[in-house]
Amino acid sequence: MEFVSGKVLTKNGFQKGYLGFEKRKIIETGKEKSPEKPVAKGLIVPSFVNAHTHIGDSFIKKRKMKLPRDIEKLVAPPNGLKHNLLRKATEKELIDGMETSIDYMIKSGTSVFCDFREDGIVGICLLKTALSSWNISSVILSRPDELNYRKSEIDILLNNSDGIGLSSISDWDYSELQKISKHVKKKKKLFAIHASERLRENIEDILDLKPDFLVHMIKATESDLEQVKDSEIPIVLCPRSNNFYGFLPNFKLLKKVGVELALGSDNAMLNNPSILDEIIFVRKKTNIFSTEELLNFATFNARKVLNLECHILGSNSKAEFIVIDKKTLKPLYVSL
Ligand SMILES: [Zn+2]
Repeated sequence: MEFVSGKVLTKNGFQKGYLGFEKRKIIETGKEKSPEKPVAKGLIVPSFVNAHTHIGDSFIKKRKMKLPRDIEKLVAPPNGLKHNLLRKATEKELIDGMETSIDYMIKSGTSVFCDFREDGIVGICLLKTALSSWNISSVILSRPDELNYRKSEIDILLNNSDGIGLSSISDWDYSELQKISKHVKKKKKLFAIHASERLRENIEDILDLKPDFLVHMIKATESDLEQVKDSEIPIVLCPRSNNFYGFLPNFKLLKKVGVELALGSDNAMLNNPSILDEIIFVRKKTNIFSTEELLNFATFNARKVLNLECHILGSNSKAEFIVIDKKTLKPLYVSL
């Protein structure tokens, strides 16, 4: 058996102690010093959940292009640069790029990611091919090939993915969004949407779509956030991605309103898909959230947002954890 010791993140905060593990399973836990020399000492955290990715555009990062720091020009469908590049890329290029990101996520302690996959059913199939040889769980949110609702297409997408994840309401004819959301809810799958990223969008319209969660909300006002909180809808923040375009989430306001938060790394063409790097970035920008809160967003909260089983590090649970340095938060040991 091997041991790690330090402080273990639980649902009730950090608790001093150790974990003993063997063959991918936690065998024993304790609140005192570990019985044998630990393989790593530090903050012991359940594996991360990256709650918002687009790993389909990983191949673009490999091209080392200069990308426009403008959301509309770069990522808005159908004519943003990213979508043109996605259409022209070969399947091999797309899959190789996705596998590079998957490998990166596993090495940085992520055991689950929620991908907003473009390109309809073809996009889902490519992601599933990329996933086939890796030990990582995914929540795949797909989207229609074009910006309109077709019943047969949504049926196919929902049969092959965990739900639908769309770009913002500003890109769409609202009545099409209503039809999609209704269809997804009827099938009891996840429906999520980017919101108030480039500009403030009408919160009533967004909430009427009954989203399971929203991504960004950086241009939202206090009253928008209050309404989101009252509707019990979580927000996934992607601070490094916002920073690329010259913005940041309003951490102070988010904390004040107390909306439920999780973290995502967004487009893989912009940033590596490491949730730990996302946390380190936020810590550099603000001290509004404690390290414990940020780690909570990326572990317990994110699982709640995606309706996943809560992963508590206890006897008999899977040995899926990461040990990080308590000062720098750099990974010291990854068990996945
Ligand atoms: Zn996104």
